Amino acid sequence: MTVNQVEPLGKVRTKIVATLGPASREPAMLRRLVEAGVDVFRLNFSHGSHEEHSKTFDAIQEIGRETGRQIAILQDLCGPKIRLGSIAGDVVACDLDAQFVLTRNPVAPLDPHELTCTYEELPDDLDIGQTVLFADGTVGMMVMEKRPGWVRMKVTLPGRIRSNQGINVPGAALSVSALTAKDLADLEWTASHAVSYVGLSFVRHAADVTRLRAELQSRGSRARIIAKIEKPQAVANLESIVAEADGVMVARGDLGVEIDVSKVPAVQKQIIEACHRARVPVITATQMLNSMESSSRPTRAEASDVFNAVLDGSDAVMLSGETAIGMYPVETVATMSQIAHEAEILAFNRSQSGYGGWPMGAETCRNCPCGPTGTVARAGQVLPITESVVEAASLVAAKLRAALLVVATHSGRTALALSKQRSATPTLALTDDLEVAQAMALYWGVTPLHVPELYQSGQVAAFADEWCREHDLINTGDRLVVVRGVIPGNPSHNALLVHEVE
Ligand code: PEP
Repeated sequence: MTVNQVEPLGKVRTKIVATLGPASREPAMLRRLVEAGVDVFRLNFSHGSHEEHSKTFDAIQEIGRETGRQIAILQDLCGPKIRLGSIAGDVVACDLDAQFVLTRNPVAPLDPHELTCTYEELPDDLDIGQTVLFADGTVGMMVMEKRPGWVRMKVTLPGRIRSNQGINVPGAALSVSALTAKDLADLEWTASHAVSYVGLSFVRHAADVTRLRAELQSRGSRARIIAKIEKPQAVANLESIVAEADGVMVARGDLGVEIDVSKVPAVQKQIIEACHRARVPVITATQMLNSMESSSRPTRAEASDVFNAVLDGSDAVMLSGETAIGMYPVETVATMSQIAHEAEILAFNRSQSGYGGWPMGAETCRNCPCGPTGTVARAGQVLPITESVVEAASLVAAKLRAALLVVATHSGRTALALSKQRSATPTLALTDDLEVAQAMALYWGVTPLHVPELYQSGQVAAFADEWCREHDLINTGDRLVVVRGVIPGNPSHNALLVHEVE
C-alpha cells in the first residue's frame, strides 16, 4: 500500500487544538503532544518571529511525516488588538477615582499617569462617559474629558496595569482596520507556508472575512479562514460571518471582556448552533483548563467546562497558555482528551436511549437551510444530495453496527457534512490532496488519510478493507459503509455502498 503508515483511529472524536509557545515548540515535545492527542497546532502570531514560526512549522510537518498523522496548523493573526504603550516604571497602581490621561503622543511618557497605546486614533474615537478596560478587563476607567488627541479618564474599577497589556472598549465601533500592517506582513509568511487555517481576530462583519480571503488568494495561499468571535458586533452579525468563514472560534478571552462575562455561556451555545446549521467547524477556546498552567490536575469546574463544550457540539476544544507556557502541557492534553471522551460516551448513550444525545444532532441538520429539501446555503457549501447521502450513511452505519464509515473526498466537504451527523461510527476520510487531509484533522470524528488517488466507490471499499486489516481494525463479517464524495469533472454524484469484510 503506497500510503503513509497511520496509527489506528484514536478513541476521541472531539479534536484538540494546542497553542504553541516556549513550553511546547521543541520537536520532542511536539511529538509527545501529538501522541497525547493534539490534532491542530496553533501558532500565535501575537508573539514570536517569522523565523521561530518557520522552525516550528517545519518540525510539525516532519512529525506528521514520521507518524503518518495528519496535523493541521492554525496561524492565528494578531489582528487589531489594542495594547498599552510603555508605562513609566512599567507597572502603575490604578486606585479608585485616580485620574489618567490617554494621549496619541508617540513618545513614551515620563509620568505613569500618562498612557499611550498602539492605536493612535483611540483618544479621538472615544466619547465622554465611555468605559475603557485594561488588562483583560481587570481595570476599568471612564472617559471624563476629551480634546483632540487626548482624553482624561477616572478609575472606576481599581487594579494594576502594566506596559503592553491589552485595551478593550466594549461596544465601541472603532475605525481600526480588521487587518493591520503587521497582519499583512504575517500573510507574506503564509504565502510560503501551507498552513491549514488562518485565524482572523476581532472580526466584526462578513466583509472582514472576505477581505482576508482576497489577501490569501492574491498570495496564492489556499488556507481556510477561522473567524474568531470576540466582539459584540460579531455576535450581532453571526449568521453572515459563519456563512463566509471556513471555521469559527468562540474566543472567550476577549469575548468575556467585550460583553458581560455572565452572557458568555449563552453566546457560546448560540455560536456553536449557528456553526452546526451552516456545516462549519467550531472551536471553543480559552481558559478551558487554565489552572493546569501550574497544576497537574484541573479544577472540577474546568472539567465540567470541557465536558459541556463537547456536549454543546464543539468540533474542537482549544488550549492556550496551558500548552504555550504551562508546566504540564502533555498532562493537560491527556486530561482534555479524557474529559472529551467521557462527554462523548454520555452523548452516545443518551442518543441510544432516545434522550437527545447530541443537542445539535442529525435531527436539527434535517431542518437546516442546506438540508435535503432546502436550498443550498451558499456557493461551495454542502449540497442537498451530499447532505442526504451522509445522513443515510450515518443511519445505515448505526443500523448495521458498521465498524467504520469511509469517505473519499476531494475538497473535504463530504467528510465535514458526515462529521456534523455526530455518528457513533468512526470515520476514515481519504483524499488525494495533502492540504485537504491536514485541514480535515479539525473535523470531529474524522481520521484523515492522504492517498495517491481518489478511487471509485468499489475501489475505495477494497482499499479501506486492506488498510483496516493492516491496522487490525476489522474482522471477517464486519461492515464498512463507504461514501464517495463529489469529484469535480466527474458526472457521478455522491454514492453510498456497504462492504462486508470476507
Ligand atoms: C481569545 O480571546 O479567547 C483568543 C483565543 O484570542 P487571543 O488568544 O488571540 O487573545
